[in-house]
This record gives sequence, structure tokens and C-alpha cells, in this order.
Amino acid sequence: MTLPLITRAEKNSEKRAILTDEGAFTYQDLLHISSQIATNLLNGTADLQQQRVAFLIPPGFEYVATQWGIWRAGGIAVPLCISHPRPELEYVITNSGASMIIAHPHFEDILRAIATTHNLRFILTTEPLGDHVAPLPEIDITRRALILYTSGTTGKPKGVVTTHQNIQAQVTSLVTAWEWTASDSPSETLRERILHVLPLHHIHGIINVLTCALWAGAECHMLSKFDADVVWRLISQGEFTLFMAVPTIYVKLIAAWENASQERQKTMTAGCTKMRLMVSGSAALPVQVLQKWQNISGHFLLERYGMTEIGMALSNPLHGQRYAGYVGQPLPQVEVRLVDEGGNLVPPGTPGEIQVKGPGVFLEYWQNPQATAKAFQDGWFCTGDLAVVENGNYRILGRMSVDIIKTGGYKVSALEIEEVLRNHPDIQECAVVGVADPEWGERVCAALVLQPQRQLTLESLRGWAKEQLAVYKVPTKILLVEELPRNAMGKVTKPTVVELFR
Ligand code: ATP
Ligand code: MG
Repeated sequence: MTLPLITRAEKNSEKRAILTDEGAFTYQDLLHISSQIATNLLNGTADLQQQRVAFLIPPGFEYVATQWGIWRAGGIAVPLCISHPRPELEYVITNSGASMIIAHPHFEDILRAIATTHNLRFILTTEPLGDHVAPLPEIDITRRALILYTSGTTGKPKGVVTTHQNIQAQVTSLVTAWEWTASDSPSETLRERILHVLPLHHIHGIINVLTCALWAGAECHMLSKFDADVVWRLISQGEFTLFMAVPTIYVKLIAAWENASQERQKTMTAGCTKMRLMVSGSAALPVQVLQKWQNISGHFLLERYGMTEIGMALSNPLHGQRYAGYVGQPLPQVEVRLVDEGGNLVPPGTPGEIQVKGPGVFLEYWQNPQATAKAFQDGWFCTGDLAVVENGNYRILGRMSVDIIKTGGYKVSALEIEEVLRNHPDIQECAVVGVADPEWGERVCAALVLQPQRQLTLESLRGWAKEQLAVYKVPTKILLVEELPRNAMGKVTKPTVVELFR
């Protein structure tokens, strides 16, 4: 069959799909160029038959047309990360078993070298495309569509395979819950317009923003990279209905707003109030950031929880009450349960592992049947994240592997401690980890970035923290650092923080 995303695009063909520095592109442009790219990839064959095609292209029209071209030729798309150095690119390319690499000229040297080493077909995006369009294969939606590599926050990134059907379920769940306006809206002024500032090798940017927008027939304004000043300039024009980002991006936007003149601040704020929804996710949203953003923009950020393997699972409501520090409730088509170590359901108020079931859950870890089998329990995907339900809302306590610290017989949540430490007047940022200790099992340790020109001793921090936290949660070791180690998604890489204490 023709992919539903394509059928929907055909109905919207005259409408603008992508806007970039280079201009505006309609759904028709996307259909046309992607069919030419598909023809080029097919190279005379009838169907790529799930060959993996790795590609590295900055966010923009070319990126989207290429991704669609791979899908329309019957291939599996493997988007690469723009900020990855050669070894990481090579890992993804070889691990996915890609047979072809498509590269923007900016990345030609590195990728051509990798292609030569591994004897892969190499295609530059600047290669001319012929006018001829080959008949494109029928694509069953149960076929594999995408391999996304996890952020690598806790270890080596894993290749997560989703089918077209999985993606469709992930997208329709969000389009329904967040009420993306349908493409057949009679008025152009009612069309959704989203400002896209996220990388495109990760679920947040590729599914929640890009694919939801194109599914809904919306207009997606893509920036080749995040730049706080550019984002503010665009937001200030007041033409967007939606915005989604990770907490670190909101932090940068807040800093840029604070540095702007009062007059500028007014226009910036006015631009935000024109939007109908602003979303945060991919990492815990500090309550302070949420509050500052609310003061600036008038928006109480909608925080949601999800992961590469499952799409989005929990979300604060679009219309109902949202609570700071909580991620709301299960999204449409998603079942969520919390279980203890014995696999039993836990009652509200008791922490348990988040397990998820539903049509959006991925098919498999790429060529790793053991890891896939281990990740499921009676058909439920085990996220490895701990949460608790309080007053009907889920609160994320963190990853069982790195954020749940076992100290002196207690289990404590690093996220909870971080939330408290961030309120200390001298602390700008912090990361709490458990470091192995013969006496305590693990010790609560905190890496701290201080506010400019401040100093802080362990003793004074402990004195302050004991007023706010049970004593076993108070850090027993601190380390002052210039900045926290983060990955391409802006997430703090906790194993690296643990290393700092060794
Ligand atoms: P890796 O699996 O390679 O270690 P990763 O888990 O960071 O990396 P992703 O799939 O990008 O890779 O991230 C999913 C994880 O992000 C979730 O399992 C959860 O730990 C965290 N996360 C996502 N949203 C939130 C949120 N709103 N609050 C707290 N944590 C979140
Ligand atoms: Mg993970």
C-alpha cells in the first residue's frame, strides 16, 4: 500500500510543509523530490527490501525529502547525529549494517572515508536527480521503517527499530492528545505552525515535532541548528502555534530573554502568548525552569515522558490542570503500569518500574534478540525508569540504573535531590549520582556548577540541605565543576559524572 503519511500529503499537496532559510516547500515538493530520491536509491531495482540507508543532513527540506525517499523506496532510514565524531558515526553505520550513506557536502570527508572503508554506496545530496521517476514499491505498514539510536545516556546507544505502524501509532496518539488541528482546516490562519529546533536523529525531533506536523498537514519551520537569538527573533514574530524543546533549550532561551532589553522582552513575550502549546520533555524539567518560563512566556510548560523504544507514554493534559514536577497520565493508545521487583503492581504512592504496552512500542533492538527479550515481561516493555503515582499523576524518579541510589538500605531518587539542590542560592546546575562505597553500598555524591563568583563547602551545603531532605539523601561528597557532561540531546551523562568521583 501507499504509506498513509504519503496519502495524507497528497491531499495537502498545495500547502506549505517546510519552511527554512532557503525558502518554503509544499507537500507537493516533498512528494516530488522524495520520489526522485527514491528512484535514485532504487537504482533500477524494484524495492530496497529493508536495506538500511544512513544519512547525515542538517535539519531542513533536504533532510525530510531524503527520509521520505528512503521510506518510499522500501528502505529503513537510519538518521545520523550531526554533532557525533567519526567513531560514533561509524558505530551507528556499521551496527545498523547500512548499505548506503547519504551525506550533505559538509560531512563529505568523514562519511566518504567511512563508506570507502566499509565498501558502502556513497551518495552526496548535491548529486543531480534525474527527471524520470520509477514506479515505487508498495510498502506494508508492518515493515521496519526507522532505526533510531538511543541517546547513550546510560551506556552504548542501542538501535531501536520501529515499523511504519509503530510510528503511525506514536504520531496519532500525540496528534489526538495535543489536538493538532486537522489539515483540512478551511482557514489558512488556523493552520498549525511549529518551530522546529531539535536534532533529527532522536525521537523528540523526528517523531513528536516533524512527523506529527507532516501527519497533521501543518507547516514546520526548521532551523538548521538551535540558536537562542534566532529562535527568539522568530517567536517574536508571533506566527507559531506550537513549540517543543528539551529543558536545556528552555534554560538557554531564558538566559537570552534575561539579557535582552526591556523593550525586546515585551515583543518576545508577546510572541509566546500567540502560541497555543509549549512542550518540554526528554529529560526532567526542573521546577525552577518551569516557573521562570511561565513568568516569561505565560505558558505553564506541558511536560511529557517518553523514550526511543516506546514513543511518548505519559503527558500532562492539554486542557486540564498540569502539575510542576509531574508528567501526567497515559496518552491515548498507551497502557502504563508500575510494578515492583517481583513484577507485582504497586499501589499509588509506592514507587515502581514503569512498564508500557501499546501499538507504538518498538519492534526490536536491532540485531539484538537477547536485549529485546530481556526488555519485555509478559508483553510489557520494561522502561528501566522508576515512577510513583501521587494524586493520580505520575512523577518520574529516574533511571533505576543510574538515578536510583541505594545507600545504607534506602533507595533514593537523584532527581528528587537535584530538584532540592537547585534551590540553593549558590548552585546553578547539579547532577547527583551514587558512587560505590564499601560502607554504604553507594554514597550520594553531587557534581555542582556554582553561580558565578560563589563558593560552597560540603559542610555548609550539608547544613542547608538537612533542613530540606532526610539526612540519608544529603550528599556526602561534592565536586565543583565548570559544566556538567552532556550528550547531543543535552542530557547529563551520569556514568561520566560517577567517573569524576572515582
Ligand atoms: P540510553 O537508553 O542510551 O541510556 P536514553 O535513555 O537517555 O539513553 P532516550 O530514549 O532518548 O535515551 O531517553 C529516554 C529516557 O529519557 C527515559 O527512559 C527517561 O529516563 C528520560 N526521560 C524522558 N522524558 C523524561 C521526563 N519528562 N522526565 C524525566 N525523565 C525523562
Ligand atoms: Mg534508554
